[in-house]
Amino acid sequence: MSPTISSKLPDVGTTIFTVMSQLAMDTGAINLSQGFPSFDPPKDLTDRISHHLASGANQYAPMTGVPALREAIVEKTARLYGRNLDVENDITVCCGATEGLFSAILALVHGGDEVIVFDPAYDSYEPAITLAGGITRHVPLTIDEQGFDFRIDWDRLATTINANTRLIIVNFPHNPTGAILNKADLDRLADIVRDTDIYLLSDEVYEHIVFDGEPHHSLLNHDELWERSLVISSFGKTLHATGWKIGYCMAPAYLSREFRKVHQFATFSISTPVQHGIADYLSNNPEYYKQLPAFYQQKRDLFCALLQDSRFRLQPARSTFFQILDYSLISDANDLDLAKRWTRDIGVASIPLTVFCERPFTGSRLRFCFAKDDATLASAAEKLRAL
Ligand code: PMP
Ligand code: GLN
Repeated sequence: MSPTISSKLPDVGTTIFTVMSQLAMDTGAINLSQGFPSFDPPKDLTDRISHHLASGANQYAPMTGVPALREAIVEKTARLYGRNLDVENDITVCCGATEGLFSAILALVHGGDEVIVFDPAYDSYEPAITLAGGITRHVPLTIDEQGFDFRIDWDRLATTINANTRLIIVNFPHNPTGAILNKADLDRLADIVRDTDIYLLSDEVYEHIVFDGEPHHSLLNHDELWERSLVISSFGKTLHATGWKIGYCMAPAYLSREFRKVHQFATFSISTPVQHGIADYLSNNPEYYKQLPAFYQQKRDLFCALLQDSRFRLQPARSTFFQILDYSLISDANDLDLAKRWTRDIGVASIPLTVFCERPFTGSRLRFCFAKDDATLASAAEKLRAL
């Protein structure tokens, strides 16, 4: 007889991204669920990786990341956010943002500590908090009357904080809603955490995908917040290479030190030739990021225009490569059931929002990924328009 298992994550199933992508594959549906581009990374970049693969860069990288890549991150961060990172002490290359978030949470959260997340919250945060022995406190983002403009309720955040609060996780540009923060928001956050022992974990993987000329307000850019922050980003989003799983954590030395204690045993180090290839590409193309907003804005605008005369209600996403569609005029089914049904019956897969929420306040919305070639977006929109 096998031993009885006492699950450490009894309420956790398989992630919605795996579930929906599998269903799309099984049914042959257009997969606008899991967020990944349908196009390749730049050819110059894959050439540089091939070069390093063929030139002997095939053994363990340094635990903190190859120096050339950390230097490229220092250069970019100084130029974009005015933050001068220390190349040795402030940056750690990790296995995608996912490992960065996981290592940060494991490093900082003690048993019984409370961690605040804003719903809808990316699905990897809470299981990591639970494994660290922490308690997740969900603060819902507020929505305007139209049902699209998501914001932090600062008063509610302030009243949720108590002596046990150890960490607040922020994710702007926000997946799945596309919400962004402004400078006043960061100042408000600074007011709230001042004179506390609360750290901030800022998931900024969509830092370069913000639309309509809006800037991204990084925690890196805010002197007071930076002192208590770990900022996580990912090359998966910016280089159209989600399968490479290369991210990085930027934090002041005293926080990076703790982060590395976990990172070194979670994975030790990250693919050497890919790190060298990205370092070369970034130093040859330091302005690469600048074309991303226009590139994705064209896709957002195309997708929204194609759905203009549909029965979906929408407001164009402010950031990320996800568009929220409100289906309340079409169906009153719950979003998880509907996402599955439409994958099977209509042939378009999407992501329900309620799975990212403690309470299903976002009931009649689905998330669609528009990081796809125009023909795929057109085919998907045609099917959605028929509803
Ligand atoms: N955070 C957010 C908000 C994301 O959307 C994603 C993935 N799309 C991640 C973290 C994970 O990034 P990675 O694939 O680099 O692990
Ligand atoms: N972050 C991606 C999304 O939001 C999915 C990543 C994953 O599949 N783990 O779609």
